[in-house]
Amino acid sequence: MDRAVTADVPVLIVGGSLVGLSAALFLRMHGIDVLAVERHAGTAIHSRAGHFHLRTTEILRSAGLEDAVRHKSEEQYPPDGGINNVESLAGKEIANYFPNLNAGVDEFSPTVRLFVNQDALEPILRGRAEELGARLRYRAECVSLEQDADGVTAVIRDLDSGKRSSVRARYLIAADGNRSPARERLGIGMHGHGLLSNSITIYFRSEADLGPLLQDRNQGVHYVTNPLLRGFFRLDRSGNAGFLVVNLVGDISRPKIVAAYPSAPWANVAEGISQERALELLRAAIGVPGIPVVIEDIATWRAVADVADTFTAGRVFLAGDAAHVVPPNGGYGGNTGIQDAHNLAWKLALVLEGLAGPGLLDSYDAERRPVGELTVEQAFTRYVTRVAPYLGTENAQPMVDDFSMEIGYRYNSPAIVLEPGDHPLHEHPRTSKGRPGSRAPHVFLDSGGMRISTLDLFGGGFVLLAGPDGRAWHDAALAAADRLGVALDPHVVGAPGLADPDNRFTGAYGISPSGAVIVRPDGFVGWRSANATDAPAQILGDALKSLLYRE
Ligand SMILES: Cc1cc2nc3c(=O)[nH]c(=O)nc-3n(C[C@H](O)[C@H](O)[C@H](O)COP(=O)(O)OP(=O)(O)OC[C@H]3O[C@@H](n4cnc5c(N)ncnc54)[C@H](O)[C@@H]3O)c2cc1C
Repeated sequence: MDRAVTADVPVLIVGGSLVGLSAALFLRMHGIDVLAVERHAGTAIHSRAGHFHLRTTEILRSAGLEDAVRHKSEEQYPPDGGINNVESLAGKEIANYFPNLNAGVDEFSPTVRLFVNQDALEPILRGRAEELGARLRYRAECVSLEQDADGVTAVIRDLDSGKRSSVRARYLIAADGNRSPARERLGIGMHGHGLLSNSITIYFRSEADLGPLLQDRNQGVHYVTNPLLRGFFRLDRSGNAGFLVVNLVGDISRPKIVAAYPSAPWANVAEGISQERALELLRAAIGVPGIPVVIEDIATWRAVADVADTFTAGRVFLAGDAAHVVPPNGGYGGNTGIQDAHNLAWKLALVLEGLAGPGLLDSYDAERRPVGELTVEQAFTRYVTRVAPYLGTENAQPMVDDFSMEIGYRYNSPAIVLEPGDHPLHEHPRTSKGRPGSRAPHVFLDSGGMRISTLDLFGGGFVLLAGPDGRAWHDAALAAADRLGVALDPHVVGAPGLADPDNRFTGAYGISPSGAVIVRPDGFVGWRSANATDAPAQILGDALKSLLYRE
């Protein structure tokens, strides 16, 4: 076997699609050298993910990508798209889930939800990751991995030359998709609702502008429910292109038919799918007989609702679809994966730099797996209620509202200094009020004449935000950070240079004017003191040590 010299890298990422690229970008933002290997020749060729949630766009904002992504989004979709359910594009509306994707968003976030196709987003992530120094190798497949006490050795095969080389890494992120060969190799199982349907996506173009068929409904995602099929459209801004997902065929509203087929042929759309059949389904979903449409491609895929039994095995971390697979309803797959990578990147960085104890890495599974489980359940609930009511809601969780899902999930791990009381897994952002374990709230501030969000202060090291009477916390933070050798950026909100023009900060963070919070590099509140205390330096030192798993 021809095997080239071993390359060393702190973090190797297997998979260079949405989540692998995000992980590479976030690690580089923390200054960590990273190599990602991807067996395809480049970024995604199909759109798949398109609906991006608030937390994701906040993260993209902190990576300096908000403008680029919003610009791309507005090329492809109207900025305030909607999500509804229709008999066909030209037919009656059955339900309206989001008349306007961004209604009510400005109360909670400085940014917006948006639609942008995965094949347009990935080059933006790739460009930024490479600009920051990430190494990405395409047509390179990880064919084996072994780990020992000090690191992971992966064998990479160059798919053009056939040559193999080994890479030695301290840690490996498996962002290798829903069939995750790495997860298989590690023997990590999955649990959940399993396979829901063998679905298809029909990518199409039309000479006719389909937009006017929507009448006064906002363009975006359109579920289709009729006696021939159930699925959803994503129609782009031009009205001339988009895709139709078909999850189920036939009239599943007739219970006798459903009961007669225990193997659910209505959920096996992909088997034997032909151009003619796809065209028939597409026309039925558009609802205009004979409409001129051209099918560009048909992708087959499995709608599954499962989560991995663990997200960590030694030095290997599962992220994205490798860790949780969801049906697309609610648009959770890619969003959750990007947020996995964001949770993991700063932890790896601090451990690799020797500033945090290795135990911090255990909090990845402790924090992200419960969120993964919640997400799988909520995507399943949306699949059942929007597409497959024949499955019944007995095994489905009640629907959790979208703001709670996007920016209200909470972490309960030793990487948070938890306060006494209940620690629900999710909470509406209006009620969490800066409780440790929740995403730090957005408040507009005035920084030397510039309007910024509190969120714009996060993303590097730890950040201390103190109320207007909390100067003592500020000074103590500098001393504590210096003693521990970690980056902690202190701010007194309401002091000269950082005004709180709407006087919202202390209320939003649940502190008095003399209180303070520590926000972790991922924008989650790690510690909070509602009021001033006698020994702030000691208290902050202890809090930081706890957050960092330091003795
Ligand atoms: C129709 C549809 C609509 C969707 N809509 C949304 C949506 O609106 N919002 C949303 O957030 N999500 C959506 N999703 C889900 C989203 O597309 C996925 O969750 C997302 O692509 C997962 O990204 P990933 O990087 O984890 O995995 P993938 O995108 O599957 O990427 C894994 C990569 O790993 C590579 N790989 C695998 N094994 C190896 C190996 N051994 N060596 C090297 N490379 C390897 C693969 O080539 C692949 O490129 C949708 C999915 C579908 C099917």
